Amino acid sequence: MSEAVDLGFDPDALRAKYREERDKRLREDGNDQYIEVTGQFSHYIEDPYLDEEIERAPLTDEVEIAIIGGGFGGLLAGARLREAGLENIRMIEKGGEFGGTWYWNRYPGAACDIESYVYLPLLEETGYVPPKKYIDGADILEYSKTIARKYDLYRDVLFQTEVQEVHWDEDASRWVIRTNRGDAFKARFLVMSNGPLNRPKLPGIPGIDDYKGHTFHTSRWDYGYTGGDASGGLSGLKGRKVGIIGTGATAVQCVPHLAEGADELYVFQRTPSSIDERNDRPTDMTWWESQKPGWHQERMDNFNTLVSGGVAEQDLVNDGWTEIIRNLLLLVQSEEDSGLSMEELMEKMEIADFQKMESIRARVDAIVNDPETAEHLKPYYRQFCKRPCFHDDYLPAFNRDNVTLVDTNGKGVERITEKGVVANGVEYELDCIVFGTGFEVGTDYQRRCGYEIHGRSGESLSEHWKDGARTFHGLHIHGFPNLFMMGHTQTGFTANYPHALNEQSRHIGYIITRTQAGNHNVVEASAEAEQQWVDTIVSLARMNEKFLADCTPGYYNNEGDPLARSLQDANYGAGPVAFFKVLEDWREEGLMRGLDLDAG
Ligand code: NDP
Repeated sequence: MSEAVDLGFDPDALRAKYREERDKRLREDGNDQYIEVTGQFSHYIEDPYLDEEIERAPLTDEVEIAIIGGGFGGLLAGARLREAGLENIRMIEKGGEFGGTWYWNRYPGAACDIESYVYLPLLEETGYVPPKKYIDGADILEYSKTIARKYDLYRDVLFQTEVQEVHWDEDASRWVIRTNRGDAFKARFLVMSNGPLNRPKLPGIPGIDDYKGHTFHTSRWDYGYTGGDASGGLSGLKGRKVGIIGTGATAVQCVPHLAEGADELYVFQRTPSSIDERNDRPTDMTWWESQKPGWHQERMDNFNTLVSGGVAEQDLVNDGWTEIIRNLLLLVQSEEDSGLSMEELMEKMEIADFQKMESIRARVDAIVNDPETAEHLKPYYRQFCKRPCFHDDYLPAFNRDNVTLVDTNGKGVERITEKGVVANGVEYELDCIVFGTGFEVGTDYQRRCGYEIHGRSGESLSEHWKDGARTFHGLHIHGFPNLFMMGHTQTGFTANYPHALNEQSRHIGYIITRTQAGNHNVVEASAEAEQQWVDTIVSLARMNEKFLADCTPGYYNNEGDPLARSLQDANYGAGPVAFFKVLEDWREEGLMRGLDLDAG
């Protein structure tokens, strides 16, 4: 009881409230609640940004390196391979330009709420100065093109091209890449960077294809209908009633613009996001020009350390992301805390998390005028159960007369009819429904990347992974020679995703140049190295099991069932800092340990 008085809240009561809110949202169907965007739903993923379709003849030639994906992963791989002196690189991208997630996600308000000075890769190499602390999506898209130009990646790029199947040709020791353009070309090395959130998902609710009004997913924004552009001005929504389903990081950014454009806006909420201050500002050029060479890596490392729960002498980024960790650390670093057991430390961390979330909930009360709406907008879960959001206009949007929050008490919308959305038993007639319902994460790799991969023995990756992911360092797969997989499975995951892609790219560059320098044709993870890595991933993943199981459902915990998929699909549980060190030490050792050269 005294604890409750001292803290200003009762931890037991909060624990019970978090459990209650989680339990409300747990569902038997987990990931199966969502519809795969194929068949009659394919129109949701058509590219609305193409000016014209590229005509070209199918390719049957051979390249040294093929890179699938033109987002930051592919761009970084291309850049680091060029730096390593590799010329014969072909990029393959389903969109009409480089940019990846920033090509597709052009919704109004799209911006990066991680500081641009750490989020954007290759800043020292390109000399680019981000205009603001939190850069707009449109500028990131432009910057992607800058990287591609700088590293001459337009030289051999296949845009508007979707890979349909890749297989290893054992006789030729080459990958064969087949696409929707009739291509069947060969590559000695294959880098796959499909993007972790590339496959939009829709809620599997009855009647979703009955709706007769206008509808689209946020990652394929229909400006032809809404008018305006990524900076807002949605004049096409005048006179219209609009509904948006979903209140994740995407919705948080576009709701203020929908609120301004539409006559009436209905925001259908299942779980509120945690919304902290963003406080954007122009880049301070005096500060920028005072940076010494090497500053960018130092800043990225510093941010990564702090948001991964590590300790650093200073906090260079000093924003809402790192504040969470600062507060947590303050609480566990006092003198009397030295010598705490792991269990006691975890309890302190939980209290610090409660404090942080209490301040997030207090912020809602301070901003939102209507007490009932404010209550519904308060998140009751630990900060990193879902991706934290940072925005200064989202909560104020609910003070507008034309905006209604339709909270569904954790149940989600019930049904879609010809005319609109049914929630809490009420039908809301709408001219337009926007799906801000996110992307597939926990489904099969093959389903998410859209093509199957067949390795040395003809075995497919889906078969190889039927009991869970199997890799060495998250990058190599036994039986799939000369293949490099970029992503978050079995690697160090960081909130600053391009940082992880950068580290992976460097590593790939090192391995390919070492393989070539030794005149080896093939490099492949050994079965033992793969098994050892899988064992490491599983043992580290157990450390995080309870935290994830206690969380409200979402894609961070496989929709509330972190154990449903094998623990093997987890990230490297000791965190990204430790993972990058594993890769660095491995390179320094110089033995290519765990990889067979010219095997088979
Ligand atoms: P999310 O998966 O985060 O959000 C999907 C939303 O749809 C959730 O609010 C979810 O509710 C809701 N939903 C799903 N089914 C239903 C239903 N049946 N009824 C009502 N609501 C439903 O997707 P986002 O596109 O918002 O974000 C995806 C990721 O993209 C982020 O997590 C982040 O990593 C990235 N991103 C990054 C940005 C940046 O600044 N760098 C900006 C925007 C996105 P529930 O929570 O209950 O599942």
